[in-house]
Amino acid sequence: MSKFWSPFVKALVPYVPGEQPKLAKLVKLNTNENPYGPSPKAIAAMQAELSDNLRLYPDPNADRLKQAVADYYGVQANQVFVGNGSDEVLAHAFHGLFQHGQPLLFPDVTYSFYPVYCGLYGIPFEAIELDEQLQIRVEDYARPNGGIIFPNPNAPTGCLLALEAIERLLQANPETVVLVDEAYIDFGGETAIGLVDQYPNLLVTQTLSKSRSLAGLRVGLAVGHADLIEALERIKNSFNSYPLDRLAIVGAAAAFEDRAYFATTCQAVIDSREAVVAGLQQLGFEVLPSAANFVFARHAQHDAAQLAAQLREQGVIVRHFKQARIAQFLRITIGTPEQNQALLAALQSL
Ligand SMILES: *Cc1c(COP(=O)(O)O)cnc(C)c1O
Repeated sequence: MSKFWSPFVKALVPYVPGEQPKLAKLVKLNTNENPYGPSPKAIAAMQAELSDNLRLYPDPNADRLKQAVADYYGVQANQVFVGNGSDEVLAHAFHGLFQHGQPLLFPDVTYSFYPVYCGLYGIPFEAIELDEQLQIRVEDYARPNGGIIFPNPNAPTGCLLALEAIERLLQANPETVVLVDEAYIDFGGETAIGLVDQYPNLLVTQTLSKSRSLAGLRVGLAVGHADLIEALERIKNSFNSYPLDRLAIVGAAAAFEDRAYFATTCQAVIDSREAVVAGLQQLGFEVLPSAANFVFARHAQHDAAQLAAQLREQGVIVRHFKQARIAQFLRITIGTPEQNQALLAALQSL
């Protein structure tokens, strides 16, 4: 605290990112990174860009990347927004689309950045309880709102909401924006991007940090009606005209174009997830149905915080949230088969 701070800074409650340990030997299953590297074509594209060109500013509109995303999803380039990680894209959406005085609605158990952005932009919110099975029930969102946001699959539960339910929500809520945060959609769900031409209030965000294994590059995107995208562009161009550097633009575009590598690595993660679920169940864990690259699991006889601490002593890090309703769960990222084996062996020994 300092007298030099603007008054509102004193009241901010910032997001706490998962630990990025400096020790190399740990089995790191705590922040949902992809265990497989990025597409070799993405690496090659970035290496080719690593030249004298870096003295020049990048394309402020990142047209090369927007076109790659538009081609991938069969939409127009003016329906695509790109930013420095989907966290930045989300921030611009909160700033530009959710400030209407009415409360923003999101689940009580969800991505913990949402209440942080509400604090940053002065947006009131209501946390809507998940049902007994920790699932989203769209009927509960039929109330006055300044917008609705949820991840699909939800985080940290991994539970998927069917497209049919999302469509019911959009039909019941035509007056405000419904933002579907699809950070994990490629690991077992169907994207809602196919609905954007039908619903002008639907915005879908995605990230290259998980399924495309580029968390270190910081690239995220949004797809929606051109009018929603224009609001994000206006914010972006009032804040930072060059959120994506030259390496990020070419690397992310090449990652989108390499469909074969993407399909193979996503499938490998999905196959491993099934093996991890089976292994955890064998050890007596209850595991929520996951469509993501992580699982959310609890054990009736073992305290989750203690398990996380004991796993850490054995060199395996997972994520534990000290939060009502989920304090007995561990969120475990799916790793390589070797990492998953190390996790299960460590749990077995405990
Ligand atoms: C990881 C994640 C993001 C943010 O991803 P970026 O790395 O900022 O692109 C957004 N939403 C959810 C639910 C996430 O889990």
